[in-house]
Amino acid sequence: MKLIDPIVAFHAELQEIRRDIHAHPELCFEEHRTAEVVARKLEEWGIPVVRGLGGTGVLGIIRNGRSERTIGLRADMDALPVQEINTFAHKSKHSGKMHACGHDGHTAMLLGAARYLAQHRNFDGTVYLIFQPAEEGGGGAKRMMDEGLFEKYPMQAVFGMHNWPGAPVGSFGVTAGPMMASSNEFELTIRGKGSHAAQPYKGIDPIMTAVQIAQGWQTIVSRNCNPVDAAVLSITQIHAGSATNIIPDEARMIGTVRTFSTEVLDLIEQRMRDIASHTAAAFDAQVEFQFHRNYPPLINHPEQTAFAVEVMASVVGAENVDAHVEPTMGAEDFAFMLQEKPGCYVFIGNGDGAHRDGGHGAGPCNLHNPSYDFNDALLPIGATYWVRLAEAWLRVS
Ligand SMILES: [Zn+2]
Ligand SMILES: [Zn+2]
Repeated sequence: MKLIDPIVAFHAELQEIRRDIHAHPELCFEEHRTAEVVARKLEEWGIPVVRGLGGTGVLGIIRNGRSERTIGLRADMDALPVQEINTFAHKSKHSGKMHACGHDGHTAMLLGAARYLAQHRNFDGTVYLIFQPAEEGGGGAKRMMDEGLFEKYPMQAVFGMHNWPGAPVGSFGVTAGPMMASSNEFELTIRGKGSHAAQPYKGIDPIMTAVQIAQGWQTIVSRNCNPVDAAVLSITQIHAGSATNIIPDEARMIGTVRTFSTEVLDLIEQRMRDIASHTAAAFDAQVEFQFHRNYPPLINHPEQTAFAVEVMASVVGAENVDAHVEPTMGAEDFAFMLQEKPGCYVFIGNGDGAHRDGGHGAGPCNLHNPSYDFNDALLPIGATYWVRLAEAWLRVS
């Protein structure tokens, strides 16, 4: 591994920053303390800071030389509404909130890179350090963009990184093209006509209609989607009725759809709408269908992915970079940034969980698990990757 010595020398302080953030988790758009910690550190290292971009977002700007070239490096800062069961010293001090996705570590890794870049300046151009709020469902990336992130601070490319439990420390994973799924929610309300359960002919049964629609929807992925396109349609809630002898007025079905492309998503949404309305018509019921698109699919741009692969290989060796990692059906709001700018999002191995201090909970070290902890061994690896990426993108000619 070829880590940057001054960053390795700074490891203890980065770990302290990481653990302090871990102990003080803040949810979507409430990252006031975390943002202040980030902004103060950046200022301490002489880096100009923009506060409050996208609510609690922070932007650091490091310029050097005369080149017009620019790069955006992005970390997320928010925690999750999870009750931490770890008992080690840096466990969450806020009941019901926890850094269970490692955004504390993402923030610390980018801070480590920021300090080195500001002090050594082996690049020609501008590095934008994007510390975004509200990745966990709040769309903080989108909000920063809506408030002018890319208009006010033009970036030629943007890069993101997430820790990946199970993958070995000192390894990276990435793939060009779709790497994470779009995440979408639907809710269908079926209105029938209530009646006595012994006199169903006097009513319109919304439960039977719901069952028929559920069956119909399950043919979309198998009969309408191209089999080489991955997609998931899961109905996760059905609500109806209150008694054994009453046919209710109404039934509701709720669930999620995941796809790796917008075209497949368009197809699924349209088929769901058609099957729901036509099936309901066949049973004399009425439907109201709502489909909400949360995060788009995360699609890595091939050229920037190849660029990132080379940089990762220069840090950990080509044999430790999986350039064709299996995509995941999880979602990530960095996808919004990749819709507007070329760039690449990578996974950095978080290890098997053995790094956790005594006092970790009984569960596995998986993302969103109450006994998860970010692996501090990654801090210099991730920070070195960020620095080498920026230096390569803004190479001194
Ligand atoms: Zn998460
Ligand atoms: Zn996350």
